[in-house]
This record gives sequence, C-alpha cells and structure tokens, in this order.
Amino acid sequence: MPFTSLTIITPILRALEEEGYTNPTPVQAESIPFVLDGEDLLACAQTGTGKTAAFAIPVLQRLHESHVHGEKRRIRALVLTPTRELAVQIGESFTDYGRYTGVTNTVLFGGVNQNPQTARLLRGVDIVVATPGRLLDLMGQGHLHLRDIEYFVLDEADRMLDMGFMHDVKRVLAALPKKRQSLFFSATMPPEIVKLAASILHNPKKVAVTPVSSTVEIINQHILFVDKENKNSLLVHLLKDKSIRNALVFTRTKHGADKVAKHLQRCNIKAEAIHGNKSQNARQRALNNFKAQTTRVLVATDIAARGIDVDELEYVINVDIPNIPETYVHRIGRTGRAGSKGTAYSFCNSEEQAYLRDIEKLIAKSIPVIDSHPYPMLNTEPVPAAPEPRRSGSGSPTRPQAKSSDKRWSRRPERSK
Ligand code: AMP
Repeated sequence: MPFTSLTIITPILRALEEEGYTNPTPVQAESIPFVLDGEDLLACAQTGTGKTAAFAIPVLQRLHESHVHGEKRRIRALVLTPTRELAVQIGESFTDYGRYTGVTNTVLFGGVNQNPQTARLLRGVDIVVATPGRLLDLMGQGHLHLRDIEYFVLDEADRMLDMGFMHDVKRVLAALPKKRQSLFFSATMPPEIVKLAASILHNPKKVAVTPVSSTVEIINQHILFVDKENKNSLLVHLLKDKSIRNALVFTRTKHGADKVAKHLQRCNIKAEAIHGNKSQNARQRALNNFKAQTTRVLVATDIAARGIDVDELEYVINVDIPNIPETYVHRIGRTGRAGSKGTAYSFCNSEEQAYLRDIEKLIAKSIPVIDSHPYPMLNTEPVPAAPEPRRSGSGSPTRPQAKSSDKRWSRRPERSK
C-alpha cells in the first residue's frame, strides 16, 4: 500500500517522495488514519519502526490544513521526548516531511544556552519538540505557555519513566488544555505506563507493532576492537573477502564518509560517499549505482542513510560506533530485511567503548568480538563514562567479551597501506 492511499496531502507526499519513502511502515499505516480522524492514539512501537513519521505526518497535515493565513504562529503542537538526540531527530523529521507545508518547528533541550531557543520562540512557531526539563524551565521564565496546544505527543513514555522524568511529565500535563488530541508512544507497556496513558488519553485507538529487536536478532553482529588510525586498513582487509558483494558503511561525520570513500577508492575498491553536503541528484546517483552493484561500497552518514532501502543488502559496517544506541539499531536494520540474512561489523576504538556498552544495554545482549584480526587495538586507555546521563554504561571499561564464531578472521594477511 503506497502513502497515496492514506489521504495525505500533496505537499507532504512530495516531501516523502524526496525522502525516498514509498510505502508506510506498519505503525504509520495503522496510526496515520486514526490521527487524521482526530482520535487519541496509544501506540506500542520502538524506535526503528518509523514511529516518528507516524505522528509527524498527520500532525503536520492537520496544522497545515487549519492554519489561518497571516496569523502569528502559536505553539499548537508539543512533542515531549526524553533525550536531546531524540528531540533533534524529531525536529529534523518535522522539517523534512513538512518542508512544503509552511508549518514550523523548533527544538528545546537543556545543556545549551537558552537564548537562541527563546529568540526562536519569540518569532512564533507551530510545533515545539522538547525534553521535559528545559521546557518547564522556559515555561517558568515565561518564555512560552501551552494554552494553545491542540496536539500533544508523548514519545518514548517508558524511557521517560526509566530516566526519572515522570514528575516533570506530570507537570507538563497539568499545563496542557483539557481539550486536545493526544498521541502516546512507548516501546513497552509496564503497568505504570498503562496508568499514565489512561490519565492522558481519551478513548484511544490502539496500535502495536513488532519490536525492532526481532529484526536485530536475526542479524549476525560482530565487534572488532581497533585503534582509530587503523580503521581504514581494517575495512580494506575486511573487504578483501569477495563474498561481501556489497556493503553499507557508516561514519559519524560527512568528512569521515568522504575520507573513507577516498581511501577505498585508492585501494581499488569501488566506493562512493553519500551525505548531506552532496546534492539530491548526486545522492540519488550514488544510491542507484549501489543498487545496480556498480558501486560495491556506499559510505553514508546516518542522516543521509535515512530512507535508504536496498534489497538484499547483506553487510553493514560501522566504522564509527554511534553515540546514540538507537542509531546502531537503525543502521544494522538496513540489512536482514524481510527475514533475509544480514551481517553487521562494528569497529570500536577505546573511546567508543562506552557507546558500545549503551548499545548492548539497549539490545539486551552482548555482541560477539572478533579478536583475531590484523589490527588489534593497542591503545587501551581507561574509558570515561558516556557523556549523556542516561547513557552511562554500568559495565567495566574492558567488557567481558563474547567470542565471535566467525572463523574467517583467524587468518592474518599482510597489512595493506
Ligand atoms: P523511527 O522509528 O521514527 O526512528 O524511524 C526509523 C527510520 O526509518 C528512520 O531512519 C526513518 O527515516 C526511516 N523511515 C521512516 N518511515 C519510513 C518509510 N515509510 N519508508 C522508509 N524509511 C522510513
């Protein structure tokens, strides 16, 4: 079923097409019609299922349709989310999907100077995406109020509870108008969350989708500890295996993606980089080459990889470990689609071990380590705790290592320059 059968307005359909989305994910197909009908929604869906667009698309549509031309923009929609990374990602999604609607959004989170945020609020905005603490702070200082909210989204409710934000969430709820449409998203539904949902929602429609973890479980995952400066060589070594017909390689930065692609090209491996600094045309061309298998390796940043859907992609290689654990799940979820087999290799240097611990916490398993490769990690400086409060892993810096059963790594070919 294509997006066009969901009565989505043309400006949004156009943006979705540009994102490369053709069909809604299950949570989108189920939720969007309810939200467009004005119903409250209780959705049990994890990150990675497409849940952001499931609320962003219909909220954008309803705001666009009811906007009075010439009227100063008031905050009519609020999305509350537990972390700054999620807030930023959600803000970007609203911007991406809403780029032809004129509907505006801004993101509020703590840990940064509030002045740019308050200046943006002064200009008037339709949608606020916020973490609870900064939102309450700015409300307390009189920089915004929630009296005009028509749409309220509580994202990752169970995570809010885990992170101790329940009190703050309740304070925000108390400031919302009684008459509003509420959308509630949570990956799990423990009793406290069910109780919270009941206090927020009015006769909600219920939607539940299969958790991403079931996808993650069918992917063969491996960790390779390696020093930063040897990551490119390890990648080349890995790609000597001709059974890797194509691979999607992830880097954290655009610059990093370019550097990796150039290194591979120098080693006669057909590679292209795809990231936000490239034109839409250049990105599409690179993607087409990859799909046609004229390019063997596509090196992408997370943002550029959004919406990339390549059938029969067997390998994902993380040259950098993402600092947001959910990003890892997104990345590796590009392979192993529709029950086909998939393999994910992740290169981890000493500084990234804290991120790795957070990932293993999220996926609730320890990823097997391949330690018999030609570039073992020599720099094993003690690792500081992860920067975000909720991210601080609890394990010791040198984690107990599950051994990988991937035997091909025991050979030690010559180092490539
Ligand atoms: P989310 O669960 O909202 O974090 O989304 C997971 C990923 O799926 C994001 O990278 C989205 O850009 C991508 N995505 C969301 N909806 C679609 C769709 N209908 N088709 C393809 N990709 C999508």
